Amino acid sequence: MKITVNLEKCTGCRACVKACPFDAISMVEKKAVIDLDKCTYCGSCVEACRFEAIAIEREPAAVSTENLESYRGVWVFAEQRSGHLARVAFELLGEGRRLAGDLGQPLCAAYIGPENGSVESLLKRGADRVYAVTDDSLLHFQDEPYAAILTYLVRTYRPAILLAGATYIGRSFIPRVAARLRTGLTADCTGLAIDPETKLLAQTRPTFGGNLMATIFCEKNRPQMATVRPRTFDEAPVGAGGGEAVRVPFSEIAAGNRVTLDRIIPGSEEIDLTDAEIIVSGGRGLGKPEGFALIKGLADALGGVVGASRAAVDAGWISYAHQVGQTGKTVKPKLYFACGISGAIQHLAGMGTSDVIVALNKDPEAPIFKVANYGLVGDLYEIIPALVKRLKQGGA
Ligand SMILES: Cc1cc2nc3c(=O)[nH]c(=O)nc-3n(C[C@H](O)[C@H](O)[C@H](O)COP(=O)(O)OP(=O)(O)OC[C@H]3O[C@@H](n4cnc5c(N)ncnc54)[C@H](O)[C@@H]3O)c2cc1C
Repeated sequence: MKITVNLEKCTGCRACVKACPFDAISMVEKKAVIDLDKCTYCGSCVEACRFEAIAIEREPAAVSTENLESYRGVWVFAEQRSGHLARVAFELLGEGRRLAGDLGQPLCAAYIGPENGSVESLLKRGADRVYAVTDDSLLHFQDEPYAAILTYLVRTYRPAILLAGATYIGRSFIPRVAARLRTGLTADCTGLAIDPETKLLAQTRPTFGGNLMATIFCEKNRPQMATVRPRTFDEAPVGAGGGEAVRVPFSEIAAGNRVTLDRIIPGSEEIDLTDAEIIVSGGRGLGKPEGFALIKGLADALGGVVGASRAAVDAGWISYAHQVGQTGKTVKPKLYFACGISGAIQHLAGMGTSDVIVALNKDPEAPIFKVANYGLVGDLYEIIPALVKRLKQGGA
């Protein structure tokens, strides 16, 4: 990509300076000068310039429309953490199987990590083929080598669709892979389908603060790439595993790394909301940070973990790791207990598919009651202690 300023056309009007969100343009002797270290090629300056003095030359797309048909198969990036396959890998295989069936094409997994039986597990979960790059140095996620390896695999084996989890790993390096492949990426999808007429991947995700659902198609580039939040789809069941493993030597791939991993420091918060079976969440209705001691008491009595609404997190009453919702975690526990939470659409986006929802709110008209299986109307400071007492007596 290249950005140029035509000095003859530039009048020094400063419109581009004002338009640049990255503070990358300054005026030198009444001519625009672009700082390439800051410029992201967003194009704001090109639009702002009335004299057509700024131009961006973009490289042509890596894929021409003629050879789209040569891209085949639905791929799932099989994420692993410290050698253990993440549940989202199995969830994507479950959904990928349906998509592959609708396309009449194979379902494949791409595995990057140590050699430890993960490839066999993925085959047992229904992958027709697992492309595996294994090496002990790949145990812990690192952006650069992972991006280089996945890009290499896609360029070599040409899948039509590539799915990954919208986890901290997927969110970190999948955009880099999409940029290298010069294809589109739809982040945080909540629904995927194959369009029956065009056979394109219909990628649905919330937009405008969750008030609208947008369905996005990637028509001219391959692969069609999407990330999906954990717990959005059901896991693929364990089967006999008749697929094949394609092992690609790590040494074949130029997967250099400018970063040296010195040591791994375990997170201070040992909370994993996405895998929890019981979650008790507190919202602004708690009124004060100390209210979370009450929520924790109920969570402990039920054998669950503590969640929160964004209002509670924004108030600084609890850390972001606990936030459920559109900009927090997507959860699907067996029991979701919402206390002092109104039920805003952005909160529902993260917990609406829980098996059983219990809502506790003093306002009988609170929207949360529309999605709740059971509703408790009243003051949480009276009801929760009474509930905990009953649970401790074994009488709930
Ligand atoms: C782009 C965007 C992304 C967002 N992402 C998220 C997200 O990820 N997660 C999220 O949660 N929100 C998110 N929000 C914010 C969301 O819109 C709501 O503002 C938020 O969910 C409200 O939190 P709440 O229900 O705790 O608070 P409120 O809406 O203020 O509700 C508090 C509830 O507590 C009840 N209450 C008060 N006192 C008591 C009591 N003593 N006993 C019982 N009930 C009581 C009240 O009746 C009320 O219903 C997002 C918003 C935007 C615009």
